[in-house]
Amino acid sequence: MRKTIVEMLKNAGENFISGESIAGDLGISRTAVWKHIQKLRENGYEIISSERRGYKLKDAPDLLLPSEIQIGLKTKIVGVDMHYHPSVDSTNRVAKALAYHGAMDGTIVVAEEQTFGKGRLERKFYSPRGKGIWFSVILRPNFLPKDAPKCTLMAAVAVAEAMDRFNLKPEIKWPNDILFDGRKIVGILTEITGELGKITYLVIGVGINVNISREEFPEDLRDIAASLSEIKGENISRVKFFRAVLEEFDKLYLQVSENGFDDVLNRWKKYNVTLGKNIRVISAGDGENFTGKAVDLNEDGALVVDTVDGLRTVYAGDVSIR
Ligand code: ADP
Repeated sequence: MRKTIVEMLKNAGENFISGESIAGDLGISRTAVWKHIQKLRENGYEIISSERRGYKLKDAPDLLLPSEIQIGLKTKIVGVDMHYHPSVDSTNRVAKALAYHGAMDGTIVVAEEQTFGKGRLERKFYSPRGKGIWFSVILRPNFLPKDAPKCTLMAAVAVAEAMDRFNLKPEIKWPNDILFDGRKIVGILTEITGELGKITYLVIGVGINVNISREEFPEDLRDIAASLSEIKGENISRVKFFRAVLEEFDKLYLQVSENGFDDVLNRWKKYNVTLGKNIRVISAGDGENFTGKAVDLNEDGALVVDTVDGLRTVYAGDVSIR
C-alpha cells in the first residue's frame, strides 16, 4: 500500500496530488492516507502537505525500502518479490527459511543491518546499519548442482558490472571476492539445498561495503576491507547502486538459464585479478596449502594452477595473491 502511495507521489513529480484522489484510487479513507503519509515520513520521506492541494514528494531516503528499490526496476525475475528488514541476524538465514517455505525464484531479502552476517566456515561478516547493501537472492535454477559454483561467479560479475556502470573499477579475486587495493569490498556466500542431481534452491548472500570510511571499520578489518565510497572519494547512493546490481544480476541469470555460463565466465575473466599471478592456495577440501601461478579458469569455474607438481585444479578454497 505504502509502495503504491510513493509510486503515485513519484509519478506526480513536481505536482501535488490530493489526499482525496489517493484515497479514491486505493479505496481507503483520507485519514488512512494521512496515516500512511506519517509512516512514510517516519521512514525518511520528505513529503510536503498543503491543506488545499494535497501531498508532494520532496525527497526520498537512501534506504533499501521496496518503495525505493522496486518502483520502475527493470527486472523479470530478480527482486520481483522482495523482503525488507531494518535489521536481521543474517539475510541468508532468512532467505533459506523463505525458500524452504516455497519462495519464488528471484526472491530477495535485504537488510539495513545484519547482526550475525555470515562468511564461509562460520566466519562473521561485518554489516553495519545503513552503510552497505546486505542481501540474499533465492534462485531455483534449472541446471545441475555441478553448475552451482558458477552462480557464485555470476553474482560477482553482476556486482562488477554494476560497479562498471558507476565507473568504479572492479577487481575480482577468485572465486568471488571483489577487491580494491587488495582489500575486500564485496563478500559472497552461496548455500545450496538439493538432492542428488537436482538443485532445490540456491541462496546467494552478497555483502557490499558502500559508504564505510577506513576509520569506521573495526580495527581487525581496516587492512583487509574497503568500500565503494573509498574508490569514489565520496558517498554513493545505496538505492541507485542496489538497483543496478539487481538489474545486472537479472540479466545474467536470464542469459545463463537460456545459454549457459560461457558469457559469465568470459566477463569474470575480464574483471579478474587472479589469473597470471603467483598465488597461495588453501584448498577447502583438505586444507592443503600450496603455491603456484594461476593460469586459467576452467569451464566449471575452477581455478587451474601451475605448480611444481604440474597443473592442479582448485574447486574451492582461499587464494591469496603474492
Ligand atoms: P565470503 O566469501 O562471504 O566473503 P569469507 O569467509 O571470505 O566469506 O569472509 C569472511 C571474512 O571476511 C571474515 O573472516 C573477515 O576477515 C572478512 N570480513 C568480515 N566482514 C567484512 C566486510 N564487511 N568487508 C570485508 N571483509 C570482511
